[in-house]
Amino acid sequence: MEKMSRILLLDLLDGCKQTYPNEFFAYLGKTKDVIDHFIAVPIFYQTEDSVAYYKHTKPVDFSIVGTIHSHPSGNSSPSSADKHSFFSEGNAHIIVSYPYTLDRVAVYDSAGKRIQLELV
Ligand SMILES: [Zn+2]
Repeated sequence: MEKMSRILLLDLLDGCKQTYPNEFFAYLGKTKDVIDHFIAVPIFYQTEDSVAYYKHTKPVDFSIVGTIHSHPSGNSSPSSADKHSFFSEGNAHIIVSYPYTLDRVAVYDSAGKRIQLELV
């Protein structure tokens, strides 16, 4: 179970919509026990199927607890590349599938197992 600011999640869903048909990607940051901010990183290319970014662009920010990215395909299952990066990028990973409504939000832990998200 992770706790996340509802306002932040709605903002990020807007980001996904604006980035469509490309993928949206950002790191998620936590203050105390609530995910309440995101950290954007430079994206070097975006296609309908993949987001690529250089690992060395990951900011040194110890509030980072996970990631969020969008799946324009509408499938919210993590790809094998997703699972690989989940393992090294924290404990809460959100995949939002098109059309990016709240019921299209899926959250996974670092092992790629589905977890619950409580909006606060
Ligand atoms: Zn993905």
